[in-house]
Amino acid sequence: MHEMLNYIDGKWVHSRTGKTNENRNPADDSEVVGTFQASSEEDVDAAVDAARRAYRSWRLVPAPRRAEYLYALGAILKERKEQYAKDMTREMGKVIAETRGDVQEGIDTAYLAGGEGRRLFGDAVPCELPNKAGWSERHPIGVAGLITPWNFPMAIPTWKLFPALVCGNTAVIKPASDTPLSVVNLVKACEDAGIPPGVVNLVTGDGRSVGNRIVGHPDVRVISFTGSSQVGRRLGEACGKSLKRVSLELGGKNAQIVMEDADLDLALEGVLWGAFGTCGQRCTATSRLILHKPIKGRFLEMLVERVKTLKLGNGLDESVDVGPLVSKAQRETVHEYVEIGKKDGARLVYGGEPYTRGECEKGWFYMPTIFDGVTRSMRIAREEIFGPVLSVLEADNLEDAVETLNDTDYGLSSSIYTRDVNKAFRAIRDIEAGITYVNGPTIGAEVQLPFGGVKDTGNGHREASHTVLDIFTEWKSVYVDYSGKLQRAQIDTESQE
Ligand code: NAD
Repeated sequence: MHEMLNYIDGKWVHSRTGKTNENRNPADDSEVVGTFQASSEEDVDAAVDAARRAYRSWRLVPAPRRAEYLYALGAILKERKEQYAKDMTREMGKVIAETRGDVQEGIDTAYLAGGEGRRLFGDAVPCELPNKAGWSERHPIGVAGLITPWNFPMAIPTWKLFPALVCGNTAVIKPASDTPLSVVNLVKACEDAGIPPGVVNLVTGDGRSVGNRIVGHPDVRVISFTGSSQVGRRLGEACGKSLKRVSLELGGKNAQIVMEDADLDLALEGVLWGAFGTCGQRCTATSRLILHKPIKGRFLEMLVERVKTLKLGNGLDESVDVGPLVSKAQRETVHEYVEIGKKDGARLVYGGEPYTRGECEKGWFYMPTIFDGVTRSMRIAREEIFGPVLSVLEADNLEDAVETLNDTDYGLSSSIYTRDVNKAFRAIRDIEAGITYVNGPTIGAEVQLPFGGVKDTGNGHREASHTVLDIFTEWKSVYVDYSGKLQRAQIDTESQE
């Protein structure tokens, strides 16, 4: 099995620890996907040093030229999409249609960020004094530390890396320990696109040594993190102490509302995809289903009938609907939550156990699971499970449904199915979340719209769109006085009258 290396200063290198980690296929634990460097703080220091040196010249490359590297990268990812998707399915389990989508999101982000190379707009505004010009412009920050989770192994790293680069920053990236291969692939694509040495650096390893050092390194000027609220909170504290900019994209406990007047067949397709796509391991996954009382019994019956037809298996098989969970530990966590749900009095209507039939015995599969009779205070209604477990709650009317949806510490994605335009607009206004879908599931974001959430889902930043540029740039206000004399703002304005 090929040993994968770190990428520092344009070279593929071993970790100074001399140690590696082995990664296995979650659909078949006997298959080793690769061995990766178990790096240390010293490796991070070397990567940050390379990024700091490369920053001196990268920041001076005109943004439209930096964008050309991103267009080249987009083309390379397009060419390698199938191979990278297969690698991703082998390393984290989600089905091949979804891993193709994950790479596609990287391609879309390359072109979106590339386009920004000819925009990066600031504002030119009139000045209050004569013969004086004023405008604002974006400047890069320096070395960006990018720390990413395993559920979108390529898309999320590109959401961070590509805008960081087009803005003129250099980067050190640390992928999740479960999914380093997709980021190795991404960095190979960066190398093949001709990105200069030191601009992109990769250090694999665990959060405690590699992640912590990236966050704590004084030469890393901005951190962009996606992961759990628990780790994000700790990173936020650490960055607060050193006044380091940090963007945190964290957990979710997303809900889909189905009203009596909805197209129930459409709502059913939505919840199946939202709850069980990626085996429920999306920050935007539908984890709560809020059903309007008059249709609750009928909808639940329809749902259970359809869930029974979902095919579990190795995600490389095109006919499979649901792959495995990412690891044994994740499966144990999911099962613990199922036990908690039962103990708290929720009614298990389907699933609730590991799935070990046939070939699935070799991996970390779990049955799509549905709980009915869930109340807002139960732990399965409040905590992020990150698995194929759907909690069904009931609502008397729209107000009750929205209140139930909002009764959570998180606020990432949300959805309402209704054919009543008044209800839809009231929901858009009243739901507390960064994303609201009408007649669509909670998953399915597009890169040209801001991505992120409210409450414990983050610290107010938005990735994707042009809003991501606020994470990776500093604003500079420029004043040019061409009057040839001292003009005092707020003071000499009156004497002009
Ligand atoms: P995680 O928080 O366990 O790990 C995320 C990353 O942080 C990994 O690379 C990990 O190695 C690193 N890390 C862990 N401890 C660290 C430390 N002390 N210092 C620095 N880095 C550290 O999350 P995960 O299990 O990989 O991913 C699942 C979580 O990510 C879920 O909560 C999910 O909701 C969230 N997520 C959020 C979004 C979003 O955009 N809001 C998107 C995808 C996933």
